[in-house]
Amino acid sequence: MKKFVDPNHPYRVRRRRAPKGAPLAFIEDALLTETDDCIRFPYCCNGDGYARLKYEGKDAYGHVIVCTRAHGQRPTASSVVAHGCGNQSCINKRHLRWASSAENAADKAGHGTSQPSKLPQHAVDFIGSELVHVMRYRDLARMYGVSGSTIASIARKAAGGPG
Ligand SMILES: [Zn+2]
Repeated sequence: MKKFVDPNHPYRVRRRRAPKGAPLAFIEDALLTETDDCIRFPYCCNGDGYARLKYEGKDAYGHVIVCTRAHGQRPTASSVVAHGCGNQSCINKRHLRWASSAENAADKAGHGTSQPSKLPQHAVDFIGSELVHVMRYRDLARMYGVSGSTIASIARKAAGGPG
């Protein structure tokens, strides 16, 4: 079977115009994919880095669709999808769960400022060795859902500095 999802493919992180139906096909494939790696949604992310698409005629978020399909309906009206990995564009069902908005805010705080260890090591390596040379810190921070200072810290460490 042909796999759409290759979480290790660096070009997956590029923003691109989606062929019709491709975002949903990517989501269907992600739902069937068993991996502990982040599955970065490659299409039409909004400014926050969240995976966004048209679903049943409405604007929807990929991670919400995946969470609903994998873990059931939103348990309460105030529930939000939390990313255990901190990657907002990730749609790996294993990294998504329903959480209260308070829990989610705590998660985000934990994933934020100056805690590069919250990113998976392969992401830190990839950022430090490649991405910091070709992308702006600001864009990287948005893409990975971390602060700019986290990216700066990764860049300093990769250059042999104290981090
Ligand atoms: Zn993830």
